[in-house]
Amino acid sequence: MMKHVLGAKCIVCGKEWEAEPSITVCPSCGGLLDIQYDYAEIRKEVDHKVMAQRQEQSMWRYMEYLPVLSKGERPKLRVGWSPFYKADRLAETLGIRELYIKDDGVNPTASLKDRASAMAVVKAEEAGAETIACSSTGNAASSLAGNAAAAGFPTYIFVPSRAPRGKVSQLMIFGAHVVSVKSTYEDTFKLSEQAIEKFGWYNRNAAINPFLMEGKKTVALEIAEQLGWKMTDYVALSVGDGCTIAGVWKGFKDLYETGMIDRLPRLISVQAEGCCPLNRAIAQNRPWEPMEENTLADSIAVGVPRNAEKALRAIRESKGVVVNVSDQEILDAAKLLGRTCGVFGEPAGVTGTAGVKKALETGLISENSSVVSIVTGNGLKDTPNAMKAAGEPVAIDPEMNQLLQVMDRL
Ligand SMILES: *Cc1c(COP(=O)(O)O)cnc(C)c1O
Ligand SMILES: [Zn+2]
Repeated sequence: MMKHVLGAKCIVCGKEWEAEPSITVCPSCGGLLDIQYDYAEIRKEVDHKVMAQRQEQSMWRYMEYLPVLSKGERPKLRVGWSPFYKADRLAETLGIRELYIKDDGVNPTASLKDRASAMAVVKAEEAGAETIACSSTGNAASSLAGNAAAAGFPTYIFVPSRAPRGKVSQLMIFGAHVVSVKSTYEDTFKLSEQAIEKFGWYNRNAAINPFLMEGKKTVALEIAEQLGWKMTDYVALSVGDGCTIAGVWKGFKDLYETGMIDRLPRLISVQAEGCCPLNRAIAQNRPWEPMEENTLADSIAVGVPRNAEKALRAIRESKGVVVNVSDQEILDAAKLLGRTCGVFGEPAGVTGTAGVKKALETGLISENSSVVSIVTGNGLKDTPNAMKAAGEPVAIDPEMNQLLQVMDRL
C-alpha cells in the first residue's frame, strides 16, 4: 500500500524522490528509479498465516507490497495468480531433481506483461491521465491495450512491423490506436518517446516507469507462496529489456527483507544467441553493448535493452547464471513443454525452459538442483513459429483407406 512506500530512489545518483504517480526517471540525472518500501511496517502486517487466509486471487493479493492506494479501485481484468505446476515428467526428461512451471501465458491478454499493464492503468488513473501510450515488441502493447480497454482508457501503441499477427490482432480487437513502425524495436521506442513527450500521454514504457517493475514483481511473490515459501535453488526466465528479471529479483528481495522467505534463489537469465547483450556483458564482465535483433523469439529480440542497469544488477546480486540458446533450441523447448506439461508457450515464453535444459547439459547447474521456469507468454500469439516447431499435420480425404495408409505417420 502507498503508506508503505518510502519513495523512489535513483539507482545512479542515489537521490530520493516522492513516488508521485506520474514520476518516470530521476528528475536530477535521468537515472532509473526504484520504489522503496518500509519493510519494518510491512513485517508488522504480513506473515504466512495472514497470506494463507487471503481471498484475493490476483496480483492484488499482495497489496502491502504494491505502490498503490489501498482504497483505490482495482482493474477489472483478473491479472496474476497464474497456475504453478510441479513438472515431474519434464524434470525426468531433462534429468533434474525438481522442476516447476509458472504459466503466465494464462493471463487475460496471455502474457506476463499484464502484471505491468494492470499497474500502469492504476497509476495512470491516479495521475489523472487521459491517454496511455507505449512502444513494445508486442506483448506490452497487447496487454496495455486490453487492460486499458477494460478501464476505459484510449491507448496509442507503437510496434515494430515485425510484431507477430496474433499480437497485432489483439491490439486491433482492443481498439488501440496502432502505429506499426517499419524499422527495429529501437527506432520504434525512440519514436514513441518523442510522441509521448509531444502529446503528454501517460508513459507505459516499462524501463522508464518505475511502477511497472512493481507490477511484474508479483510473479515472484506468487511463486514463493505457491512453493509454500520454501524457495528453489534457481528461477529461470527469458530476458529482453530486462524489466521482468529485475522485477522478479525485486519481488524476492522484498519477501526476504520482510521475513517471508529465508533464502534468495539464483536467477537463470536466458537470452537468444542472436540477441544477448545483457548475458554477454555478464559473461565477459564488461559494460553491455547493443546487438542485432537476430532471433525468432520476437518478445526478447531487444538489441538495446531499456532496463540494462537494473537487470545486470539483479543477475549479479543473485549470483545468477547466464545461458544463451539458439532458435532451434527455443523451438525444441516449445515442443517439450507442450508434450510433457500441456503448456503452450510462445518462443520467448519457452526460452527460460530452453535455458534450463542447456544449463543442465553444459553443467552450469547441477542435476541435483530445484528450479522454477517461468513461461512468460502464450503460444497462440505466434502460431507460425509453433507450426515451425511442431510441423504440419497429415491431411487426407475423408476415406478410411487413406486413414489406414497414413496411420503410421500420425
Ligand atoms: C517482454 C517479454 C519477455 C522479456 O521481458 P523484459 O522485461 O523485456 O526482459 C519475455 N517473454 C515474453 C513473452 C515477453 O513478452
Ligand atoms: Zn539520479
